[in-house]
Amino acid sequence: MYEKDEIKVFISGRDSVCDECKEDLGCGAWITLIRDKGALCLSCADLEHLIFLPSGSAALTRRSRKYSKMSAIVLKWSRARRRYERQGLLVEEEALILAERECLADSEVRSRKKERAKERRLVIDRQYVKRFAQQIRKLYSHCPAQSDIRIAEHACLKYSGRVGRSARAKNFDEEAIKLAVIACIRHEHTSYVSLLAKGVDRWQAREKVKDEVQQILDKWK
Ligand SMILES: [Zn+2]
Repeated sequence: MYEKDEIKVFISGRDSVCDECKEDLGCGAWITLIRDKGALCLSCADLEHLIFLPSGSAALTRRSRKYSKMSAIVLKWSRARRRYERQGLLVEEEALILAERECLADSEVRSRKKERAKERRLVIDRQYVKRFAQQIRKLYSHCPAQSDIRIAEHACLKYSGRVGRSARAKNFDEEAIKLAVIACIRHEHTSYVSLLAKGVDRWQAREKVKDEVQQILDKWK
């Protein structure tokens, strides 16, 4: 949470008076408790030059505190939870500016990194689709032109849970390739989709087009 010797500023829940300048601070004033001196307003406590950074960004808070020669934790009493709750930090403005600059740079680095990873993934996917398609062509040499690529692309769609992404498909397992080819035949060369559209149960529909699929599969071999 916070270190014991760090300055704490309390947002007071009742009327308070500064023990040094005797100013009536009213309710909700920001005060700090100084040993032997009592409750002081921020001006008397020499904290007035600090600016408030609300809690929320852990990185910004951590960096602001690091760069600030002087900082204070702002706490407010929560009646509901019956404890002081951290509201944020008082820090030097220069420190905050520095911290903000660093956080911005970081987020830029992160987004560029993400972009690069995405590009890399696309390249890997393209290579994978190509190899998958080559395997299809090898096993089903009579499949229509472009079907191999289309089947491979379809099978390799990321995160889709389709056969192309299973461990077996990654090793171009013959059975996995067959499943991908069957899925394509079923969708593009039989009445399977229109059966589904009519509300036929998918397993029933699969059963209905099974022979048709097998015939086409044999032809493609
Ligand atoms: Zn004062």
